This record gives sequence, structure tokens and C-alpha cells, in this order.
Amino acid sequence: MSVTPSPPACYAEIAVAVPVDQLFTYRVPEPLRAEAIPGRRVVVPLGPRTATGYLVSLRDDLPPGLPPAAVKDVRAFLDEGPLMDGAMLELCRFIARWYGSSLGEALDAALPAAVKSGGRRRRVPTAVLVPGPAEARGAADAMAEKHPKRARILLALLENEGSMPARELRRVAHCSEAPLRTLAKEGLLRLESLEAAPDPFALRAPPPPAVPPTPTEEQDAALAAVTACVDRGEFRVFLLLGITGSGKTEVYLRALEEVVKRGRQAIVLVPEIALTPQTVERFRARCPRVAVLHSALTDAERHLQWRRIRAGGADVVIGPRSAVFAPVPRLGLLVIDEEHETSFKQQNAPRYHARDVGIVRAKEAGAAVLLGSATPSLETFVNAREGKYQLLILPRRVGGGALPPVEIVDMLRERRESGRPVFLSRRLESLLTAALARGEQGLLFLNRRGYATEVKCARCGGVVECGGCRLPYTFHRRLGLGLCHYCGGERRIPEDCPACGAPGLDRRGFGTEKVEEAIRTHFPGARIARMDSDTMKGREAYDRVLSSFRAREIDLLVGTQMIAKGLDFPEVTVVGVLNADIALHVPDFRAAERTFQLLAQVAGRAGRASRPGRVVVQTTVPDHPSVVLAAAHDFAGFAALEEAERRRDGWPPFSRVVRVLASAPGKEKARALAEEAAAAMLGAAPGVRVLGPAPAFLQQVKGKDRWHALAKVPDARAMGRVVAALRPLCRRTGDREVILDVDPVGTA
Ligand code: ADP
Ligand code: ZN
Repeated sequence: MSVTPSPPACYAEIAVAVPVDQLFTYRVPEPLRAEAIPGRRVVVPLGPRTATGYLVSLRDDLPPGLPPAAVKDVRAFLDEGPLMDGAMLELCRFIARWYGSSLGEALDAALPAAVKSGGRRRRVPTAVLVPGPAEARGAADAMAEKHPKRARILLALLENEGSMPARELRRVAHCSEAPLRTLAKEGLLRLESLEAAPDPFALRAPPPPAVPPTPTEEQDAALAAVTACVDRGEFRVFLLLGITGSGKTEVYLRALEEVVKRGRQAIVLVPEIALTPQTVERFRARCPRVAVLHSALTDAERHLQWRRIRAGGADVVIGPRSAVFAPVPRLGLLVIDEEHETSFKQQNAPRYHARDVGIVRAKEAGAAVLLGSATPSLETFVNAREGKYQLLILPRRVGGGALPPVEIVDMLRERRESGRPVFLSRRLESLLTAALARGEQGLLFLNRRGYATEVKCARCGGVVECGGCRLPYTFHRRLGLGLCHYCGGERRIPEDCPACGAPGLDRRGFGTEKVEEAIRTHFPGARIARMDSDTMKGREAYDRVLSSFRAREIDLLVGTQMIAKGLDFPEVTVVGVLNADIALHVPDFRAAERTFQLLAQVAGRAGRASRPGRVVVQTTVPDHPSVVLAAAHDFAGFAALEEAERRRDGWPPFSRVVRVLASAPGKEKARALAEEAAAAMLGAAPGVRVLGPAPAFLQQVKGKDRWHALAKVPDARAMGRVVAALRPLCRRTGDREVILDVDPVGTA
């Protein structure tokens, strides 16, 4: 006869998604015990409210010092079971520890909001145009002068087939809710609650299965290395180094096929901007069960995809940064394309880097990691050179096709010789003229949107600045407004100088909007389009312009980095970089690397097919190594130089970096807070070096002063101590805030 002992008391450790380190202990009432499984979401009383948290572990006694009377009961368990398995909980513990977030924040980041909300179909407030196009256009013209916001709203609706989600419409038309409501009252539009647009990727029928090309010798060698690793169920990181067109994606596809054959799953991370239907089609043509996690999914679709992935219903998951958490049951391979891209780093808590989190996840899962890039980050490259990662090289373009020759044009000289400020050098102009005459296409790249980058008084030298950020307003001509590119603030640019009253302000510098206007006058016959976040109202517009450019309905495309990333335009024969210097002026130890990467990427756009391409790089620093080596397509040369400098100055990968950003109302408060953080870092571990505190690059944002400090930390162990020392400062207290960013990307 067996005796069932009375069950011991049962307590649950709960993590809540608030920036507080601590776990909370609750009692699990007897009737709920069967449901208490780690990884499950739970509702608990927290102060006067209830909160949703995650059960992270169970225990049968209370932590010392916690009297039983102080312990409250769990209210209820959510979902039909745990949403996280032990490995995912462990990964989130790592994230919380390394990036200095709370465990609750890390767990929250690992689950899509749609899964947490149960995937209810999302209805969004949508504006629908009431009158027909002609009448609406007439109304827009009539109000253009007096009510420019209302006119912009009508024009935006006209461009989007008569309806748009209200939030997007407000963004595009730079306005608040008020003019929308006025237009609704006037009967020109209706505000309705409509279901969000369906998944743009799901609409397409699966593409016909593609016949894979026979791999080249180098592709074969790369593939054999990865496959052998997958066969052994071994963790290993590979760096696939190869220029655009060298056949990297083909290696990914074959490796994915091998993983699927072996009954395991794979995750493919791509930069958000490269996640186009074209990219996805290519994967779907080769792997039948692909799930795409994309920001355009509705909640219901996202929830469905997530469940399908967790049930093993997808072999390959493609997505941006957050797809690193996709709940595939048996991860065999993680591919990270363009591993150097900054969009893999999340810019709010937990500030994780998907590449680094992915490597940790793969290690636990016994999976292979395949990092691909033409211009890998120095951190990754050094790991590969030193043998920690395995280096796989694709040395040339498949099917030949040389890299285009790159010419550097000294714009200071150009200015001297032509006697006026120019943005189009004579050399670039003549190449474009010739290309257009032959019916070929050109691409002009400028990483600055808007019309004029500065509005300045010729008499007192005063610049019209955003009051909150202390940064110059960028003048946008079509909007007729100055916009702050940091906080999104706007103002009407006055006729006279606000400081000294002198009439006539100069609009200086140029952005893509001015370039577009100028080349329209310059090349009157050419069909011209502009691609930047001002003209691209959402994914569809972006895909539309790209397809018409591919279909050769556009001759010249002007754009920001939107056009530089991972796009393939084989017919383009002239690429112009209008100002290569922009990224060099940013106070960041990676400024040279970013500049090199951007230039190399843009240069790789030209001359992919049979026609040779030409690239012109305009710069005021023609001798800068980033410019010279990118023009020579010399990654190895750049990496060697950059490595030597980073080693000399103790920057990553020869140290780990953490940045703290303190913000508070008033310079003194912000500074004192940053000094406190700096002292905490210095005292945390030997060998820590602190730079600053100093005013941040953006000294004020939304009226708060910002000071920052950066620490170079000798190694990971010391970083653990530095983060632990900083954590107590990170609790938001009133209007003061300390943000800590481990392995920061960009330091503005
Ligand atoms: P990357 O990802 O490095 O830019 P891709 O894998 O996209 O390069 O390859 C560039 C082009 O060459 C694609 O059109 C691809 O289909 C083709 N390609 C790749 N590998 C081969 C091969 N072994 N034989 C023939 N064509 C190939
Ligand atoms: Zn601002």
C-alpha cells in the first residue's frame, strides 16, 4: 500500500517585465499546482494592481527572511501551457545578465506581443477618402495655402488608393490627430476601425521549385564544412566572407536543405530592410516549409506562425533580429546574413545583439552558425582570423564579372575649380550623361534626407535649431517645414532670422530631396525616382519602386541607405556616392568601419551583369583610408589597418565596451548622474578605463540634458562585474534615467 505524502508547500519565483532585478515569490495554491510549470505566464497581485509575469522556477521553501504571511497567492496561470522551454529561459537569463536588463524584460522581448495578447485580430483606426480622386485633388489644392496639413493628408490618401491606417497617415503627413478629425467633420474622409492589412508574403502562391545551380569549388568546400558540423551536431561558428554576387546565398540555401534533410530546423536572420518578398521567394523556392516573421504581419498571423514554428511545422524561419527567439524545436543551423548590420542590435531594453544572442543559443543547442558578409565586423573577422570561428572564403563573383573600378573625386578641389558649391562633380555628371544616352541606369546615393541640412542666418550665423535636441532643423521643401531628424519635432521655418531679425535665411547643404530636384533640371529627359523614408510610405511603396527600377521604368534612382543594402541591380552601370564623408563625422569608434562598409556596399551595386559598371565616390577627404581602401575593394587591407588601430587604442575586439547615458532635467543633474555611473564602473573591476563623462552627441533630447560615459572593460568577466555595479543606478527615479548599453552600436 502506498502512502501519498501530503505535498510540500509550493512557491513560484516570478519575473515581471519591469526594470527591477528582483524575482518575486508567490505561493501556488493547491488546486493550481498541476499547472505550475516553469516558462508559463502567470497573473499575480503586485502592489495595488495585478501583473502578468513569468514563472521561472519552483521551490518548496521560502527564501530566508521572507515571512510566510507576506507571501501572496498566484491568481491564475495563462495560456494552455508554458510558452518557453528551459533552454529559452536559460537564454533569457544570459541576456538579462550580460545586457543588464531584468529577467522579466528579457523574457518579454523573446515573445512576440501577438502571442502574449493571444493573437486577437488587430483592428486599426483607418482613414478612408470619401470623395473621388478628382474632387479630393481639387479640395487639396484649395486648402494647400491655408491648411497645408489637411492638404497633405488628402494627397497622401490619394497616393495610397484612398485609405491608410491613421497612424501611418499622421506620420507621412506630419500632423496630429486634429486635422484628421476636421477633415472627417467636413465629410472629406471617414475614420473607421478596419482589420490590418494581411501578410504581404502570404498572398503570393509558392514559387515553382527552382533548379539549384551546380556549386563552385569554393561553395562546395564551404558547404562541406558546414554540413559536417551539422552531422556531428556540433556547435561551431563559420564566417562566410564574400562580396555581393559571390554566391553566399546559394551556400545558405544548400546548407538549409541539408539541415532540413536531417530533420532539424534553421533560422535565417536578415536585416529588416533586406526582408523583401524577393528575398523570401528565393528561400521558398528551395525550402518548402518556410515561415516568415515580419513586422507587417497582423497579430493573428504572427500568433499562428509562432505556434506553427513551435509545433515543428516550419523547417526554416526567416526574420529580422527578433527571429533569433523563434521557438524551433531542434535548431540545427543559424544563418545571419550581413552579420555586420547595425539593425541586429536592439535599441531599447533589453539591448541585445541578435548575432551574439544567436551564437549563445546555437552553442546550447549544438547548432552551426553561418555568418555571412562582404564586410564583416572587425570583431567577427578577428575571431575568424584567430581560428575561433572558421573562415570560409568565396573569393570571386560567380560567373566572373569584375568589381567595378571606383574613382575618387576630391570635392574641395572641384569646388575651387568650379567656383561654386556643387554636389555633382563634372566626372559623375559626364558618366551619367553618357549612361543615360546609352539607355543605362544610374544610382545616386546620399545618406541624408530632406532638402537643406541647415537653415542659417547670413548676418549673425545663427542656425535654426530644434529646441529640445539642440540640433539643426533639416528643411523639407515639399512639407514646407523644418524637421528635427532626431526627435521628429517640426516647425515652420521663419522668413527672418529668429535671433537677429535679418531678412532671408540661407538653406545650406543638401539632402536627397534637393538632389532629386537638381537632377530633374539637369537631366530633363530622364525618369527619376527618390527612395528615402520621406517618399517610401511603407513596405509596398518600397517594393513598387524597386520593381519598377528592375523593370527599367526608372533611369536614375536617388536614395539613402535604403538603396544600398543588399539590393541587386545588375543593369546599373553608374553609381555615385555624393558625399562619402557623412558617416566619418560621427563620434563613434566604428566611424571608419561604417564608412568603409557603406562605401564597399554601394560600390558593389554596379556592373553585376555583362556590362561593366563605374563608381564615383565624392569626398572632401580623398586620402582617408576608409575611402581609399573601399575604392580598392580591399577588405583585408582595411581590416588590418583597423585592427592595428583598435589594438593600439584598446577598442573592441581588444576590450568590451559599455556605455552609460544619463538624462535628467538640467545639465548639473545629468552630469552628476553620469559621474556616479563612471565611478561605479571604475570601481567594479581592475583594468576598467572610463572615458568621460561628457555631454552626449545629442546634448538634449525632449528637454532633458544628456551626459554619457564609456568604459573599456578588459574582458567578459570584468564586464559582468561592471554591469552588476551599474544595475542599481538604472532604476528610473522620477525624471532621472540611466541607460546602460553593453556592446553598443552607435554612440549618439
Ligand atoms: P551573394 O549572396 O553572395 O550576393 P548569390 O548567392 O545571390 O550571391 O549569387 C549571385 C548570383 O549567382 C545569383 O543569381 C545566384 O543564383 C547565382 N549563383 C550562385 N551560385 C552559383 C553557381 N554555383 N553557379 C551558377 N550560378 C550561381
Ligand atoms: Zn529635436
